[in-house]
Amino acid sequence: METVDVAIVGAGFGGIGLGVRLGQSGYDSFAVFDRDEGPGGTWRANTYPGLSCDIPSHLYSFSFAPNPDWTHRYSPQEEILAYLERLVDEHGLRERLRPRTEVRSARFDSDARRWRVDTTAGEVEARVLVAACGQLSNPYVPRFAGLEDFEGPYWHSSRWDHDFDLRGKRVAVVGTGATSIQIVPALAGVAGRLDVFQRSAPYVVPRGDRAYTRAERRALRRFDLLRRLYRAKTFLRQESFIFGFSPGSPLHKPLTRWAQNHFEEQVTDPELRARLTPDYAIGCKRVLISDDYYPAMQRPDVELVSEPIDRFVPEGIRLRDGSVRELDAVVFATGFANAGAGGPDAGRGGGRPHARRAVGGRPARASRDDRGGHAQPVPDLRPQHEPGPQLGAVHAGVPVQLHRRVSRQPAAARPRDPRGAARGDGGVRRPRAAAAARLGLGRRLHVLVQERRRADREQLGSARPAATGWPRGARG
Ligand SMILES: Cc1cc2nc3c(=O)[nH]c(=O)nc-3n(C[C@H](O)[C@H](O)[C@H](O)COP(=O)(O)OP(=O)(O)OC[C@H]3O[C@@H](n4cnc5c(N)ncnc54)[C@H](O)[C@@H]3O)c2cc1C
Repeated sequence: METVDVAIVGAGFGGIGLGVRLGQSGYDSFAVFDRDEGPGGTWRANTYPGLSCDIPSHLYSFSFAPNPDWTHRYSPQEEILAYLERLVDEHGLRERLRPRTEVRSARFDSDARRWRVDTTAGEVEARVLVAACGQLSNPYVPRFAGLEDFEGPYWHSSRWDHDFDLRGKRVAVVGTGATSIQIVPALAGVAGRLDVFQRSAPYVVPRGDRAYTRAERRALRRFDLLRRLYRAKTFLRQESFIFGFSPGSPLHKPLTRWAQNHFEEQVTDPELRARLTPDYAIGCKRVLISDDYYPAMQRPDVELVSEPIDRFVPEGIRLRDGSVRELDAVVFATGFANAGAGGPDAGRGGGRPHARRAVGGRPARASRDDRGGHAQPVPDLRPQHEPGPQLGAVHAGVPVQLHRRVSRQPAAARPRDPRGAARGDGGVRRPRAAAAARLGLGRRLHVLVQERRRADREQLGSARPAATGWPRGARG
């Protein structure tokens, strides 16, 4: 049985970032488990055409591991995966990685005060368990009637079938979320006919992607202060969009206007305009960024299908109006099952009784919160994502949120010492950087936006049923 001090489940941004921080803090007893073939998480699993980040690359990376060499403002998937692989190699994490190892469940043994982690490669004992399983790692496909009858191939966007040649074929993309609006422009003109199945229209704002010039990259490499200022400027710009999400805010109208102008400039057909117009206020759902989605939707070989799907039939998809779309292949861009921050069955004992320990008067059991988090308390289980939805693309992005956590976790993972009680910090001295991060702007804005959203929900009441935060199949 392998014994480690810290067991990390997941080798995406969260698991790798924490591994780097643990290494930097002098920890050498930890392992990172991932069911996938290697590190990268989201950026290894997803390889669909057109995939890139929708947070500017200089922000979509850790400040403690900067990359002045991003080629584009929004870099493609291969570059992000290469960045994460580089972190693994440069920080000696390769030997700590346990790829192709799924964590099935974990049980806290309160007598030994250790986690018993059940993996596909055997049991592992750990003092601290970190759930870095990601919120968007389990593909979600709605249960369509008759799907098994469909004679063509179909796959989820995160399990792309690169062997199937889509050229000239009749292809459906189901969903119009953040993933779909990257896939559709990439397939338009390649597929013979592309049907885009829409349940609700998204707001789309300009993306403004461009390649960095060689001179820019050289300057960012050479002058670290310049790179930091650029990152700080990008962070403030992204975070400032939060204020536009709230109907009461003075920035709400300019943000709505910005999206409307983009829409009116790009969509000319009145009938298509009507069907592509969102029926909720901006910010209630994820705001998307694209310069080529609307142009793609206007191509003669691309069709927006807003009639609901009735069922799949052998030759394609039958709509509720009785018509049938004949298809050669179907791509589900229907998002991910929000598995919660815990991922594996943490806290449950694989059929054995729960390890129970009264903490704050409640049993020590991870109860799942279907908005994406674990309701604590569970001793030494550290979920990486905050409960609640990840915010939209016009925001600083997930690594910035994770940054705060992975900077704090090494200190939090240290064994507590009795002198801590006298100091009043429970035996954990937090590094100054983590304390600064706790007071940071990002956190305050995050809290502010949560409060605003709660107030808006109360104000909007049931008048806007679409104004809920986290869709079932998140991202789409
Ligand atoms: C297509 C796509 C594009 C995205 N683009 C952006 C973007 O531009 N900006 C942004 O901020 N966010 C984006 N996101 C969100 C993205 O998921 C986060 O930015 C970030 O990559 C999450 O990192 P993570 O480490 O928390 O999770 P992940 O990257 O999902 O990694 C979790 C890892 O845990 C592993 N795992 C899960 N359960 C188990 C288990 N039981 N046992 C073993 N291993 C397990 C998974 O295999 C996976 O490798 C995107 C998501 C998707 C799907």
